[in-house]
Amino acid sequence: MIGFDLDSSESAVDLADCFSSVYAVVGIHPHDAANYGGATEARIRDLAVHPRVVAIGEIGLDYHYDLPPRDIQANVFRAQVELASEFELPVVIHCRDAYKDTLDVLEGWAGHVRLGGVMHCWGGSAGEAERALALGFHLGFGGVVTFKNAGETRDIAVPFHWIE
Ligand SMILES: [Zn+2]
Repeated sequence: MIGFDLDSSESAVDLADCFSSVYAVVGIHPHDAANYGGATEARIRDLAVHPRVVAIGEIGLDYHYDLPPRDIQANVFRAQVELASEFELPVVIHCRDAYKDTLDVLEGWAGHVRLGGVMHCWGGSAGEAERALALGFHLGFGGVVTFKNAGETRDIAVPFHWIE
């Protein structure tokens, strides 16, 4: 169960407590970055040490909707990557129309943290996919891969899913 704000993160942990097959991911989505403050971070920290929390997410950057200003999104993204690093948890990344800046932030952490995780609903270029894979990330492919104009996304997905 993936959280995207404080309420959904707490619900994810509650569900993980109820069902042995469910694990929780806690974090603040870029759409909600304007609400991230000391109290929110303190609560995420409390949740992050729960034994059934396996990652920090969804976190990242969204330049498609651009709801909070980009500098606020970036600060909140960096703060949560730092938190994941501190707790040695992987991350679940939300990224839309912001692959360069997202990968720049993640590459800034490469080498001195055990960073990795999932970049869900991949929509970046082949070159950006190589950068993400070099960082040890898994790429998630969603419904976008079926869109008529998503030829590059399909080309990226094919080798990892259908050829072996
Ligand atoms: Zn997302």
